[in-house]
Amino acid sequence: MNQTNTILALIRKLFNAGNDEFIPLHIPCLNGNEKKYLNECIDSTFVSSVGKFVNSFEDKVAEYTKAKHAIVCVNGTNALHLALLLVGVESEDEVITQPLTFIATTNAITYANATPVFVDVDRDTMGMSPVALKKFLLENAELRDGVCYNKITNNRIKACMPMHTFGHACRIEEILSICNEYNIELVEDAAEGMGSVYKGKHLGTFGKVSAISFNGNKIMTTGGGGIILTDDDALAAKAKHLSTQSKIPHKWEYVHDNIGYNYRMPNINAALGLAQLERLDFFLENKRQLAKEYSVFFKENSIEFFDERDEEKCNFWLNAIIFNDKKERDSFLEESNDAGVMTRPIWQLMNKLPMFKNNIKGDLANSEWLEDRVVNIPSSVREK
Ligand SMILES: *Cc1c(COP(=O)(O)O)cnc(C)c1O
Repeated sequence: MNQTNTILALIRKLFNAGNDEFIPLHIPCLNGNEKKYLNECIDSTFVSSVGKFVNSFEDKVAEYTKAKHAIVCVNGTNALHLALLLVGVESEDEVITQPLTFIATTNAITYANATPVFVDVDRDTMGMSPVALKKFLLENAELRDGVCYNKITNNRIKACMPMHTFGHACRIEEILSICNEYNIELVEDAAEGMGSVYKGKHLGTFGKVSAISFNGNKIMTTGGGGIILTDDDALAAKAKHLSTQSKIPHKWEYVHDNIGYNYRMPNINAALGLAQLERLDFFLENKRQLAKEYSVFFKENSIEFFDERDEEKCNFWLNAIIFNDKKERDSFLEESNDAGVMTRPIWQLMNKLPMFKNNIKGDLANSEWLEDRVVNIPSSVREK
């Protein structure tokens, strides 16, 4: 058997799938209290953004992540958008992020009328490299009365938004300390990180504000949905206000004190989310077991499996393997998808997309290396 066939045979065995059975990359698992809570929600008539499930979901996510506050949104992308507004990102600001990410990260920065600036990732985390961040700031930034500016563009560098790729923690503590040194706000894109812990702390609880996604393809889902995490009381109140059209509570008057957004998650989505959250620990255990089996196999077959590092407990949202070069990667993608085993390459780098091709960037060698080689393989929870 050639290498690809050996891998495909293993995947079929791990998912207990016959030769003609399609194996998806990641599907939701909806066998808990989902139908029960959805029925309760419909019977209550509170299917929109007011209701008991939506408040309870916020409380339960805060409890789970140990964030002081959790504020729901309609999806992860607009949770990121609000997170940036909350830390004070304004028009013409620069926000430092990584080029190796899903488009939503850079779109959210653009929605805030700011400009994404790209610094490289680490080879062993696939998340922002603190060394690359520091180098970029040393060469390009200066503090003027305590405010960080890009010396060349004269724009303010207001925030830094690293992303925890596939649920693996980036070097978030080092990034935080560099941000503190330069007075830059840290916003974590923890969209993929629900259930992942780094040095005992849940991802998304290191930055001033962060966002997690509950889209249908993530480790747990609300259908569509996202949540903002923060320990800051005032920012939490502001998040709720902005996400509900900036309406001032009043018995009957419509008074709005700001441009707000219709970003609050509906009760019906939160009902689904509560049922999913009850099962999250099972999902995590199940997915970590799958990752362990992948890890053993790929080690034996001399293929690099993207495993967790010491000090992190990864949710293994999407498992990833790394090929020797783009050619090997492409032939694996071709053969696996033709054989009904769904696999996907990592994202095209943001700086190569037409909208961001002229943006400021540092040296992106690791991002480019990973872009050519990383492939996600089936990672769903196994229930049969
Ligand atoms: C999924 C995802 C988002 C956006 O979440 P949605 O809920 O789909 O809007 C943002 N950033 C990253 C890295 C993601 O993977």
